[in-house]
Amino acid sequence: MASTDDFDAPEETVKWLVDPGLVVSLATWDAIAAEVFPQEMVGELSAAEWADYGHEVWESEKPDGCPAVTMEVVDAGLDRAPVSGADSCAQADWVSEEGDLLQAPYSELPPGTPLIRATPEGLNRLDVLHEVTHLTCDLRAPEAPGHRWAFAQNFARLLETWVSPEAAVAWKMHFERRVLAAPRHTCESLLAARAEGERLLRERDESGRKRDQSAQ
Ligand SMILES: [Zn+2]
Repeated sequence: MASTDDFDAPEETVKWLVDPGLVVSLATWDAIAAEVFPQEMVGELSAAEWADYGHEVWESEKPDGCPAVTMEVVDAGLDRAPVSGADSCAQADWVSEEGDLLQAPYSELPPGTPLIRATPEGLNRLDVLHEVTHLTCDLRAPEAPGHRWAFAQNFARLLETWVSPEAAVAWKMHFERRVLAAPRHTCESLLAARAEGERLLRERDESGRKRDQSAQ
C-alpha cells in the first residue's frame, strides 16, 4: 500500500544548492506533465469554487483553535519571492501587525488570520493544497522558510488525503529526483518544465472541451 511514511530522508543530507522553491516547482510541473493529478486538481476554478475548496481543506487541516482562512483573489503583486524569475500566482500568509514581507498592508484583517491570496491564474485545487501546506507547516517558523523538507513531507501528506495515495507517491518520486539533481537546476530548467506542463494542461483543456461539445 502506498504511503508517505517512508518519506523521511533527513533534511541535513540534502544540500540545497538552489532555491528550494525551484525544486518544489520543478517537481510539481514534472508531476503535472506526467499526468499525476486528475483534471479536477489542475483545472481552473471560479473564484467561488476556489474559495470553497480552500475553506473545506483548511477546516479539516488547520491546527486546533485556528480561525477560518480568508481566501482573496488579487489582480497581481504576488511576486514577493519569485523563484529565479518565475512569478508566483498564489501566496499564503498569517496576517501580522506589520503587513507582509513586501510591507503591503493587509486590508481589514485582524492579526493572526490565515490568508491565501491568488491571481486569476492561480485558481486551482493543487495550488490551494500548496498554500495550505505553507500555513500548516512553515509560515510560523521564519527560521525554517518554505519549500524545505517539512514542506515536502506535509505536501505529500495532503496529496495523499485530498488527491490519492498514488498521486502522493508519484509527486514524492519527482521531488526526490529533482532534489538529487538540484545542483544542475537553473531558472531555464524551471521555465522549460513549466512550459511543458502548461502545454499539456492546455491540451487536456481542449480535448475536454471537444468531448463536451460532442456529448451535447
Ligand atoms: Zn510555496
